[in-house]
Amino acid sequence: MNLFAGLTLDTPTLVFSIGALALFMAVFAFNTAYALPARDMGLRSWGLAMLALCGGFMLFFLRGHAPLVLTFVLANMLVLLSSVICVDAHARLLERPPPWRALALVNLLGVLGTVPVYQGWLPRGVAILTVSLALGSNFAISARLIWRHQRSTRSRAGLLAAGILAAMATGSSLRGIYNITGERANVLISSQLLPQVGSLLLGALFTVGSSLGFLAMVNERQRRELETHSRRDGLTGLLNRTAFFEAAHAYVAAPGGERFGVVMMDIDWFKKINDRHGHAAGDTTLTQLGRLITQHTRLSDLAGRYGGEEFCLLLKDCTLAEAQRVAQQLVNAAARQSVRLPGGQALHFTLSAGYAQRQGLHESLEQVINRADQALYEAKHAGRNRAVAGLPTAPPESVPAAPEGSTDNTGAASQAA
Ligand code: GH3
Ligand code: MG
Ligand code: MG
Repeated sequence: MNLFAGLTLDTPTLVFSIGALALFMAVFAFNTAYALPARDMGLRSWGLAMLALCGGFMLFFLRGHAPLVLTFVLANMLVLLSSVICVDAHARLLERPPPWRALALVNLLGVLGTVPVYQGWLPRGVAILTVSLALGSNFAISARLIWRHQRSTRSRAGLLAAGILAAMATGSSLRGIYNITGERANVLISSQLLPQVGSLLLGALFTVGSSLGFLAMVNERQRRELETHSRRDGLTGLLNRTAFFEAAHAYVAAPGGERFGVVMMDIDWFKKINDRHGHAAGDTTLTQLGRLITQHTRLSDLAGRYGGEEFCLLLKDCTLAEAQRVAQQLVNAAARQSVRLPGGQALHFTLSAGYAQRQGLHESLEQVINRADQALYEAKHAGRNRAVAGLPTAPPESVPAAPEGSTDNTGAASQAA
Protein backbone atom coordinates (compact mmCIF):
# COMPACT_ATOMS: atom_id res chain seq x y z
CA MET A 1 0.00 0.00 0.00
CA ASN A 2 1.50 3.33 -1.00
CA LEU A 3 0.39 5.44 1.92
CA PHE A 4 1.98 8.59 0.54
CA ALA A 5 0.28 8.42 -2.86
CA GLY A 6 -2.64 10.41 -1.46
CA LEU A 7 -0.23 13.22 -0.57
CA THR A 8 0.80 13.42 -4.23
CA LEU A 9 4.41 13.69 -3.17
CA ASP A 10 6.91 12.89 -5.84
CA THR A 11 10.60 12.21 -5.33
CA PRO A 12 12.07 15.10 -7.38
CA THR A 13 9.84 17.63 -5.54
CA LEU A 14 10.94 16.22 -2.18
CA VAL A 15 14.61 16.19 -3.18
CA PHE A 16 14.37 19.79 -4.36
CA SER A 17 12.44 20.78 -1.21
CA ILE A 18 15.11 19.34 1.10
CA GLY A 19 17.75 21.35 -0.80
CA ALA A 20 15.64 24.51 -0.49
CA LEU A 21 14.88 23.91 3.21
CA ALA A 22 18.58 23.36 3.92
CA LEU A 23 19.34 26.67 2.18
CA PHE A 24 16.76 28.48 4.35
CA MET A 25 18.25 26.88 7.47
CA ALA A 26 21.76 27.94 6.38
CA VAL A 27 20.63 31.55 5.89
CA PHE A 28 18.92 31.49 9.27
CA ALA A 29 22.00 30.05 11.04
CA PHE A 30 24.38 32.55 9.39
CA ASN A 31 22.03 35.39 10.24
CA THR A 32 21.94 34.34 13.91
CA ALA A 33 25.75 34.00 13.89
CA TYR A 34 25.98 37.52 12.42
CA ALA A 35 23.92 38.84 15.34
CA LEU A 36 26.40 37.27 17.82
CA PRO A 37 29.74 38.29 16.30
CA ALA A 38 31.84 37.71 19.41
CA ARG A 39 30.52 34.23 20.20
CA ASP A 40 31.18 31.10 18.24
CA MET A 41 28.39 28.79 19.32
CA GLY A 42 28.73 26.49 16.31
CA LEU A 43 26.25 28.59 14.31
CA ARG A 44 28.66 29.17 11.41
CA SER A 45 29.39 25.44 11.29
CA TRP A 46 25.66 24.73 11.26
CA GLY A 47 25.23 27.19 8.37
CA LEU A 48 28.04 25.46 6.44
CA ALA A 49 26.52 22.05 7.14
CA MET A 50 23.19 23.19 5.75
CA LEU A 51 24.90 24.67 2.67
CA ALA A 52 26.63 21.31 2.05
CA LEU A 53 23.28 19.55 2.46
CA CYS A 54 21.67 21.99 0.05
CA GLY A 55 24.46 21.35 -2.49
CA GLY A 56 24.10 17.57 -2.10
CA PHE A 57 20.34 17.54 -2.64
CA MET A 58 20.44 20.01 -5.53
CA LEU A 59 22.92 17.65 -7.22
CA PHE A 60 20.58 14.68 -6.53
CA PHE A 61 17.85 16.75 -8.15
CA LEU A 62 19.99 17.18 -11.27
CA ARG A 63 20.40 13.39 -11.66
CA GLY A 64 19.94 12.57 -15.33
CA HIS A 65 20.78 16.13 -16.37
CA ALA A 66 24.38 16.24 -15.18
CA PRO A 67 27.25 13.70 -15.05
CA LEU A 68 26.75 10.88 -12.54
CA VAL A 69 30.07 11.65 -10.85
CA LEU A 70 28.48 14.93 -9.70
CA THR A 71 24.91 13.81 -9.09
CA PHE A 72 25.87 10.55 -7.39
CA VAL A 73 29.45 10.53 -6.01
CA LEU A 74 29.83 14.23 -5.17
CA ALA A 75 26.21 14.54 -4.00
CA ASN A 76 26.63 11.68 -1.49
CA MET A 77 29.96 13.10 -0.34
CA LEU A 78 28.32 16.48 0.30
CA VAL A 79 25.51 14.91 2.32
CA LEU A 80 28.05 12.99 4.43
CA LEU A 81 30.20 16.13 4.82
CA SER A 82 27.11 18.01 5.97
CA SER A 83 26.49 15.53 8.81
CA VAL A 84 30.17 15.68 9.84
CA ILE A 85 29.99 19.48 10.04
CA CYS A 86 26.81 19.05 12.12
CA VAL A 87 28.88 17.05 14.64
CA ASP A 88 31.44 19.89 14.63
CA ALA A 89 28.66 22.45 15.22
CA HIS A 90 27.32 20.49 18.21
CA ALA A 91 30.86 20.03 19.57
CA ARG A 92 31.50 23.79 19.34
CA LEU A 93 28.21 24.65 20.99
CA LEU A 94 28.80 22.20 23.85
CA GLU A 95 32.55 22.93 24.01
CA ARG A 96 33.45 19.27 23.69
CA PRO A 97 36.07 17.82 21.31
CA PRO A 98 34.50 15.86 18.42
CA PRO A 99 35.78 12.26 17.95
CA TRP A 100 37.63 13.11 14.72
CA ARG A 101 39.27 9.69 14.25
CA ALA A 102 36.00 7.76 14.47
CA LEU A 103 34.36 10.32 12.16
CA ALA A 104 37.15 10.03 9.57
CA LEU A 105 37.03 6.22 9.55
CA VAL A 106 33.24 5.94 9.31
CA ASN A 107 32.92 8.56 6.58
CA LEU A 108 35.81 7.15 4.56
CA LEU A 109 33.96 3.81 4.48
CA GLY A 110 30.77 5.68 3.54
CA VAL A 111 32.43 7.42 0.58
CA LEU A 112 34.31 4.29 -0.51
CA GLY A 113 30.97 2.53 -0.99
CA THR A 114 30.00 4.97 -3.75
CA VAL A 115 33.04 4.33 -5.97
CA PRO A 116 32.46 0.68 -7.01
CA VAL A 117 28.79 1.50 -7.56
CA TYR A 118 29.72 4.42 -9.79
CA GLN A 119 32.01 2.12 -11.76
CA GLY A 120 29.13 -0.31 -12.16
CA TRP A 121 30.88 -3.12 -10.24
CA LEU A 122 28.34 -3.35 -7.44
CA PRO A 123 24.56 -2.74 -7.18
CA ARG A 124 23.42 0.73 -6.15
CA GLY A 125 22.06 -0.60 -2.86
CA VAL A 126 25.66 -1.07 -1.63
CA ALA A 127 26.37 2.66 -1.84
CA ILE A 128 23.07 3.47 -0.16
CA LEU A 129 24.01 1.04 2.62
CA THR A 130 27.48 2.51 3.29
CA VAL A 131 26.35 6.15 2.97
CA SER A 132 23.23 5.59 5.13
CA LEU A 133 25.20 3.77 7.83
CA ALA A 134 27.87 6.51 7.87
CA LEU A 135 25.15 9.17 8.05
CA GLY A 136 23.42 7.22 10.84
CA SER A 137 26.61 6.98 12.85
CA ASN A 138 27.35 10.72 12.38
CA PHE A 139 23.87 11.51 13.74
CA ALA A 140 24.43 9.05 16.60
CA ILE A 141 27.76 10.75 17.47
CA SER A 142 25.96 14.14 17.60
CA ALA A 143 23.15 12.66 19.69
CA ARG A 144 25.69 11.14 22.12
CA LEU A 145 27.56 14.45 22.51
CA ILE A 146 24.28 16.23 23.33
CA TRP A 147 22.98 13.44 25.57
CA ARG A 148 26.12 13.46 27.74
CA HIS A 149 25.96 17.23 28.09
CA GLN A 150 22.21 17.18 28.67
CA ARG A 151 22.55 14.80 31.61
CA SER A 152 24.55 17.34 33.63
CA THR A 153 22.77 20.51 32.48
CA ARG A 154 19.19 19.13 32.33
CA SER A 155 18.68 21.08 29.13
CA ARG A 156 15.23 20.60 27.61
CA ALA A 157 16.38 21.82 24.20
CA GLY A 158 19.24 19.29 24.44
CA LEU A 159 16.81 16.47 25.13
CA LEU A 160 14.74 17.49 22.10
CA ALA A 161 17.80 17.76 19.82
CA ALA A 162 19.26 14.46 21.04
CA GLY A 163 15.88 12.77 20.44
CA ILE A 164 15.62 14.11 16.88
CA LEU A 165 19.19 13.06 16.09
CA ALA A 166 18.71 9.58 17.58
CA ALA A 167 15.59 9.15 15.42
CA MET A 168 17.58 10.33 12.37
CA ALA A 169 20.36 7.85 13.19
CA THR A 170 17.87 4.98 13.45
CA GLY A 171 15.96 6.02 10.31
CA SER A 172 19.08 6.39 8.22
CA SER A 173 20.56 3.05 9.31
CA LEU A 174 17.26 1.23 8.69
CA ARG A 175 17.00 2.77 5.24
CA GLY A 176 20.49 1.52 4.34
CA ILE A 177 19.73 -2.00 5.56
CA TYR A 178 16.33 -2.09 3.84
CA ASN A 179 17.77 -1.04 0.50
CA ILE A 180 20.44 -3.72 0.39
CA THR A 181 17.68 -6.30 0.47
CA GLY A 182 15.02 -4.29 -1.38
CA GLU A 183 14.35 -4.05 -5.10
CA ARG A 184 16.50 -1.94 -7.40
CA ALA A 185 13.49 0.26 -8.15
CA ASN A 186 13.42 1.39 -4.50
CA VAL A 187 16.78 3.13 -4.68
CA LEU A 188 16.36 5.06 -7.91
CA ILE A 189 16.05 8.81 -7.54
CA SER A 190 12.91 8.63 -9.71
CA SER A 191 11.29 5.94 -7.55
CA GLN A 192 7.82 6.73 -6.28
CA LEU A 193 7.78 3.75 -3.93
CA LEU A 194 7.13 4.07 -0.23
CA PRO A 195 10.73 3.52 1.00
CA GLN A 196 12.07 6.30 -1.20
CA VAL A 197 9.24 8.82 -0.74
CA GLY A 198 8.89 7.99 2.98
CA SER A 199 12.58 8.38 3.75
CA LEU A 200 12.78 11.65 1.80
CA LEU A 201 9.74 12.99 3.63
CA LEU A 202 11.38 12.11 6.96
CA GLY A 203 14.62 13.66 5.67
CA ALA A 204 12.79 16.93 5.01
CA LEU A 205 11.19 16.92 8.46
CA PHE A 206 14.49 16.11 10.13
CA THR A 207 16.40 18.81 8.22
CA VAL A 208 14.06 21.35 9.76
CA GLY A 209 13.77 19.50 13.11
CA SER A 210 17.52 19.15 13.69
CA SER A 211 18.07 22.82 12.76
CA LEU A 212 15.35 23.96 15.14
CA GLY A 213 16.80 21.66 17.83
CA PHE A 214 20.23 23.18 17.33
CA LEU A 215 18.91 26.76 17.37
CA ALA A 216 16.89 25.95 20.51
CA MET A 217 20.12 24.82 22.22
CA VAL A 218 21.89 28.02 21.12
CA ASN A 219 18.97 30.02 22.46
CA GLU A 220 19.03 28.16 25.77
CA ARG A 221 22.78 28.66 26.18
CA GLN A 222 22.42 32.37 25.45
CA ARG A 223 19.61 32.66 27.99
CA ARG A 224 21.67 30.86 30.64
CA GLU A 225 24.71 33.05 30.00
CA LEU A 226 22.58 36.18 30.15
CA GLU A 227 21.05 35.02 33.42
CA THR A 228 24.52 34.34 34.86
CA HIS A 229 25.79 37.75 33.70
CA SER A 230 22.84 39.59 35.17
CA ARG A 231 23.34 37.82 38.52
CA ARG A 232 27.11 38.15 38.79
CA ASP A 233 29.30 41.12 39.53
CA GLY A 234 31.60 41.64 36.55
CA LEU A 235 34.73 42.50 38.56
CA THR A 236 34.73 39.77 41.20
CA GLY A 237 32.56 37.06 39.63
CA LEU A 238 30.59 36.89 42.90
CA LEU A 239 26.81 37.34 43.12
CA ASN A 240 25.66 40.93 42.87
CA ARG A 241 23.70 42.37 45.76
CA THR A 242 20.24 41.68 44.30
CA ALA A 243 21.10 38.09 43.35
CA PHE A 244 22.74 37.50 46.76
CA PHE A 245 19.62 38.57 48.64
CA GLU A 246 17.33 36.62 46.32
CA ALA A 247 19.33 33.41 46.82
CA ALA A 248 19.82 34.04 50.57
CA HIS A 249 16.09 34.63 51.19
CA ALA A 250 15.23 31.52 49.17
CA TYR A 251 17.68 29.45 51.24
CA VAL A 252 16.47 30.81 54.58
CA ALA A 253 12.81 30.17 53.68
CA ALA A 254 13.40 26.61 52.46
CA PRO A 255 13.35 23.56 54.79
CA GLY A 256 16.81 23.10 56.33
CA GLY A 257 17.64 26.78 56.00
CA GLU A 258 17.16 27.53 59.70
CA ARG A 259 20.80 27.39 60.61
CA PHE A 260 23.32 29.58 58.82
CA GLY A 261 26.23 31.91 59.41
CA VAL A 262 26.99 35.31 57.89
CA VAL A 263 30.38 36.92 57.30
CA MET A 264 30.67 40.59 56.31
CA MET A 265 34.04 41.76 54.99
CA ASP A 266 35.51 45.08 53.98
CA ILE A 267 38.94 45.90 52.52
CA ASP A 268 40.98 48.10 54.84
CA TRP A 269 42.06 51.55 53.66
CA PHE A 270 40.84 50.78 50.17
CA LYS A 271 40.57 54.44 49.29
CA LYS A 272 44.33 54.75 49.86
CA ILE A 273 44.96 51.87 47.44
CA ASN A 274 42.98 53.73 44.80
CA ASP A 275 44.70 57.03 45.59
CA ARG A 276 48.23 55.58 45.60
CA HIS A 277 48.08 53.02 42.83
CA GLY A 278 45.12 54.15 40.73
CA HIS A 279 41.58 52.93 40.23
CA ALA A 280 42.71 50.07 37.95
CA ALA A 281 44.92 48.67 40.74
CA GLY A 282 41.89 48.93 43.06
CA ASP A 283 39.87 46.94 40.53
CA THR A 284 42.60 44.28 40.30
CA THR A 285 42.55 44.02 44.11
CA LEU A 286 38.79 43.48 44.06
CA THR A 287 39.12 40.78 41.39
CA GLN A 288 41.82 39.01 43.39
CA LEU A 289 39.75 39.15 46.55
CA GLY A 290 36.77 37.72 44.62
CA ARG A 291 38.97 34.76 43.65
CA LEU A 292 40.19 34.36 47.23
CA ILE A 293 36.63 34.32 48.58
CA THR A 294 35.62 31.67 46.02
CA GLN A 295 38.60 29.52 47.03
CA HIS A 296 37.77 29.70 50.74
CA THR A 297 34.05 28.95 50.53
CA ARG A 298 32.08 25.85 49.61
CA LEU A 299 30.28 25.72 46.28
CA SER A 300 26.98 25.67 48.16
CA ASP A 301 27.72 28.86 50.15
CA LEU A 302 26.55 32.21 48.84
CA ALA A 303 29.17 34.90 48.25
CA GLY A 304 28.12 38.36 47.13
CA ARG A 305 29.54 41.80 46.49
CA TYR A 306 27.54 43.79 48.98
CA GLY A 307 28.81 47.24 48.02
CA GLY A 308 32.00 48.87 46.65
CA GLU A 309 34.68 46.95 48.60
CA GLU A 310 32.35 45.16 50.96
CA PHE A 311 31.47 41.48 50.67
CA CYS A 312 28.92 39.22 52.29
CA LEU A 313 28.92 35.45 52.76
CA LEU A 314 26.01 33.24 53.71
CA LEU A 315 27.45 29.97 55.05
CA LYS A 316 24.83 27.27 54.86
CA ASP A 317 24.15 24.96 57.83
CA CYS A 318 27.00 26.57 59.73
CA THR A 319 27.95 27.01 63.40
CA LEU A 320 29.46 30.18 64.87
CA ALA A 321 32.80 28.36 65.19
CA GLU A 322 32.71 27.48 61.49
CA ALA A 323 31.80 31.05 60.55
CA GLN A 324 34.73 32.25 62.66
CA ARG A 325 37.07 29.79 60.94
CA VAL A 326 36.06 30.97 57.46
CA ALA A 327 36.25 34.67 58.42
CA GLN A 328 39.67 34.23 60.04
CA GLN A 329 40.99 32.19 57.11
CA LEU A 330 39.98 34.94 54.70
CA VAL A 331 41.52 37.68 56.86
CA ASN A 332 44.76 35.67 57.10
CA ALA A 333 44.85 34.77 53.41
CA ALA A 334 44.26 38.39 52.34
CA ALA A 335 47.11 39.62 54.56
CA ARG A 336 49.46 36.93 53.19
CA GLN A 337 48.95 37.53 49.51
CA SER A 338 50.04 40.34 47.27
CA VAL A 339 48.41 41.82 44.20
CA ARG A 340 50.68 41.96 41.14
CA LEU A 341 50.26 45.19 39.23
CA PRO A 342 50.96 45.53 35.49
CA GLY A 343 54.21 47.48 36.15
CA GLY A 344 55.56 44.55 38.20
CA GLN A 345 54.84 46.26 41.52
CA ALA A 346 53.28 44.25 44.35
CA LEU A 347 50.47 45.67 46.43
CA HIS A 348 49.44 44.40 49.86
CA PHE A 349 46.05 44.76 51.45
CA THR A 350 44.23 43.59 54.54
CA LEU A 351 40.66 42.73 55.33
CA SER A 352 38.37 43.23 58.31
CA ALA A 353 35.49 40.85 58.96
CA GLY A 354 32.47 40.46 61.20
CA TYR A 355 30.65 37.15 61.55
CA ALA A 356 27.47 35.93 63.18
CA GLN A 357 25.27 32.85 63.43
CA ARG A 358 21.50 32.90 63.32
CA GLN A 359 20.25 32.59 66.89
CA GLY A 360 16.79 31.20 66.28
CA LEU A 361 13.84 31.19 63.96
CA HIS A 362 12.74 34.60 65.26
CA GLU A 363 15.86 36.20 63.78
CA SER A 364 15.61 37.35 60.18
CA LEU A 365 18.37 37.27 57.57
CA GLU A 366 18.69 41.06 57.78
CA GLN A 367 19.10 40.93 61.56
CA VAL A 368 21.94 38.39 61.30
CA ILE A 369 23.57 40.52 58.59
CA ASN A 370 23.22 43.58 60.84
CA ARG A 371 24.95 41.79 63.70
CA ALA A 372 27.80 40.71 61.42
CA ASP A 373 28.00 44.28 60.05
CA GLN A 374 28.15 45.69 63.57
CA ALA A 375 31.00 43.26 64.35
CA LEU A 376 32.77 44.42 61.18
CA TYR A 377 32.48 47.99 62.43
CA GLU A 378 34.05 46.86 65.74
CA ALA A 379 36.86 45.11 63.84
CA LYS A 380 37.61 48.40 62.06
CA HIS A 381 37.68 50.28 65.35
CA ALA A 382 39.84 47.65 67.04
CA GLY A 383 42.59 48.25 64.47
CA ARG A 384 41.45 46.43 61.25
CA ASN A 385 43.00 43.22 59.78
CA ARG A 386 40.93 40.98 62.06
CA ALA A 387 37.68 39.04 62.44
CA VAL A 388 35.17 39.82 65.21
CA ALA A 389 32.10 37.87 66.33
CA GLY A 390 28.72 39.56 66.30
CA LEU A 391 27.05 38.14 69.38
CA PRO A 392 23.36 38.46 70.17
CA THR A 393 22.27 41.02 72.78
CA ALA A 394 19.51 38.72 74.13
CA PRO A 395 20.15 35.09 75.19
CA PRO A 396 19.58 32.70 72.28
CA GLU A 397 16.20 31.05 72.06
CA SER A 398 15.07 27.93 70.19
CA VAL A 399 18.29 27.47 68.33
CA PRO A 400 17.76 24.56 66.00
CA ALA A 401 20.29 21.75 66.59
CA ALA A 402 22.55 23.85 68.86
CA PRO A 403 26.07 23.04 67.78
CA GLU A 404 28.89 22.34 70.15
CA GLY A 405 31.23 25.24 70.73
CA SER A 406 28.90 27.73 69.10
CA THR A 407 28.02 29.57 72.29
CA ASP A 408 31.35 29.71 74.07
CA ASN A 409 32.64 32.67 72.14
CA THR A 410 33.60 35.55 74.38
CA GLY A 411 33.08 38.14 71.72
CA ALA A 412 36.71 39.14 71.85
CA ALA A 413 38.18 39.97 68.51
CA SER A 414 40.29 37.15 67.20
CA GLN A 415 43.44 38.73 65.97
CA ALA A 416 44.68 37.82 62.53
CA ALA A 417 47.83 35.76 62.55
P1 GH3 B 1 38.15 51.46 55.73
O1 GH3 B 1 39.35 50.70 56.15
O2 GH3 B 1 37.56 52.24 56.83
O3 GH3 B 1 37.14 50.58 55.09
O4 GH3 B 1 38.64 52.53 54.67
P2 GH3 B 1 38.38 52.54 53.14
O5 GH3 B 1 39.28 53.51 52.48
O6 GH3 B 1 38.44 51.15 52.61
O7 GH3 B 1 36.87 52.97 53.07
P3 GH3 B 1 36.11 54.07 52.30
O8 GH3 B 1 34.66 53.74 52.42
O9 GH3 B 1 36.55 55.44 52.73
O10 GH3 B 1 36.56 53.91 50.80
C1 GH3 B 1 36.05 52.94 49.96
C2 GH3 B 1 36.57 53.22 48.57
O11 GH3 B 1 36.26 52.16 47.70
C3 GH3 B 1 35.99 54.45 47.97
C4 GH3 B 1 35.67 54.07 46.54
O12 GH3 B 1 36.27 54.93 45.64
C5 GH3 B 1 36.29 52.70 46.40
N1 GH3 B 1 35.55 51.83 45.51
C6 GH3 B 1 34.27 51.43 45.59
N2 GH3 B 1 33.94 50.64 44.55
C7 GH3 B 1 35.08 50.50 43.79
C8 GH3 B 1 35.39 49.83 42.59
O13 GH3 B 1 34.57 49.14 41.98
N3 GH3 B 1 36.66 49.92 42.11
C9 GH3 B 1 37.61 50.68 42.75
N4 GH3 B 1 38.83 50.73 42.23
N5 GH3 B 1 37.32 51.36 43.86
C10 GH3 B 1 36.10 51.29 44.40
MG1 MG C 1 37.10 49.68 53.29
MG1 MG D 1 33.52 50.12 52.86
